[in-house]
Amino acid sequence: MRNQTKHFINGEWTDSTGSETIDVINPATEEVMGTISSGTEEDLDKAVKAARAAFPSFSRSTKEERIQWLKNIAEGYEARKDELIEVMTDELGSPLSVSEEVHFAAGLGHFRQAAECLEDFSFTEDRDGHTLMKESIGVSGLITPWNFPTNQTSTKIASAIAAGSPVVLKPASKTPFAAMILAEIIDEAGVPKGAFNLVNGTGSVIGNGISSHPGIDFVSFTGSGAVGEKIMQNAAETIKKVALELGGKSPLIVLDDADVKEAAKTALSSIMTNTGQVCSAGTRVFIPQSMKEDFEKTIVEMLEEFPVGDPRKEGVATGPLVSEDQWETVQSYIEKGEKEATVLAGGTGKPEGLETGYFARPTIFTDVSHDAVIAQEEIFGPVTTLFTYEDVDQAIEMANDTIYGLAGYIVGNDPETIRHVASNIRAGRIKINNAKTDFNGPFGGYKQSGIGREWGDFGIEEYLEIKSVHGLPSS
Ligand code: NAP
Ligand code: MG
Repeated sequence: MRNQTKHFINGEWTDSTGSETIDVINPATEEVMGTISSGTEEDLDKAVKAARAAFPSFSRSTKEERIQWLKNIAEGYEARKDELIEVMTDELGSPLSVSEEVHFAAGLGHFRQAAECLEDFSFTEDRDGHTLMKESIGVSGLITPWNFPTNQTSTKIASAIAAGSPVVLKPASKTPFAAMILAEIIDEAGVPKGAFNLVNGTGSVIGNGISSHPGIDFVSFTGSGAVGEKIMQNAAETIKKVALELGGKSPLIVLDDADVKEAAKTALSSIMTNTGQVCSAGTRVFIPQSMKEDFEKTIVEMLEEFPVGDPRKEGVATGPLVSEDQWETVQSYIEKGEKEATVLAGGTGKPEGLETGYFARPTIFTDVSHDAVIAQEEIFGPVTTLFTYEDVDQAIEMANDTIYGLAGYIVGNDPETIRHVASNIRAGRIKINNAKTDFNGPFGGYKQSGIGREWGDFGIEEYLEIKSVHGLPSS
């Protein structure tokens, strides 16, 4: 049991001013794995004050100091690798291999990338007629979801440190422990006190408090569209800048010259990795009409390569959903899908032998009409939808027929067709043939998938203000 009821404020682990706590449930066992504080507005206020007090010197720290802090954090993060992997497996339910190869790797990637970006980053620039100065935006409030406990926290924290912007982080209350380990790592890395603060609690108290606090200058949020909308409304009252990384319903376009196995595997890993709880998952798969039969047969056969089960067991590819709520939501979408489309595999209920834990059956729908609920709403579970197309422009049109625009995937070979599809999908990140992820590649959404970009140099820019100075005497 992890009983970690303190917040990290002004460089100290600090008791909450309230007495309420939140139990954290292990989704594979349904047992309580630990307890955190449900922070109060007073706790948040203390953290904001600490961040404001840190601002004058932190925002003036040198590039070299920031690079050193980021490198120290990366080193400390690596040193706690095993613990981070285990904690994420227990709080999120991701298989140990996924906790290592996806979650752990992403956090490390962001800290290293931010240090690397800083090496070549110019905070001042002489342009014809004026000088540009890029300065810290001020105190930044970070609100993160549960689906990537180290990825989303780390990209925000790394960018903020690189920019010299002090932060107050509220991690998701379903997965707070990896973030608390991060706080310990940051503390040991020599980051000045007050520059990093963590307050645990609910979205309705601490999250809502961050978006409306007059002492916070910028809010970076990752999560659902409904909460993103509330954050924008609250932020409007004090004209705060907001960056939002919201949901998606991303297309995966299989070209007619694609290898069917490769295509089916890409489609399945999209919904099986992290149990489909991925904002950028390719959950609408567009297949050439001529490939339909072959693709359907292949994807169903391939399901056995992604065994669902106990995330601590070797060889398991897919764990449970994060919570009972999430399980119920996914079930209700599968129920809708059973009325709207043909079930190719899966369905409602739990997989055989997995009665305890929030396990869902991987479900594949075909013959889906593109205006069906399951074709338009983000399900956030191991569920995918298949569509057929006659020519590639019809696929592009359907791919863009959504309120979202976070990502897009292409599997195929003809370079010209690939370029045509990549440049016509309205989304912030396109992946071709499972290309390797570059941590310097900006991440963020078109349309209702969000505002702003994270990762790498574009991520750092979010935490900076721009000043143009005219007539600056040369030194
Ligand atoms: P959520 O409600 O948007 O939660 C994300 C974060 O925002 C959590 O830290 C949450 O706190 C906090 N929050 C909740 N209400 C808030 C408010 N009024 N003001 C400020 N912050 C608030 O997401 P969820 O409930 O975990 O998941 C619901 C759906 O959102 C999912 O099914 C999925 O479709 C989508 N989602 C998308 C992403 C993504 O990466 N884009 C990530 C997660 C979820 P607490 O949860 O601790 O109370
Ligand atoms: Mg919620």
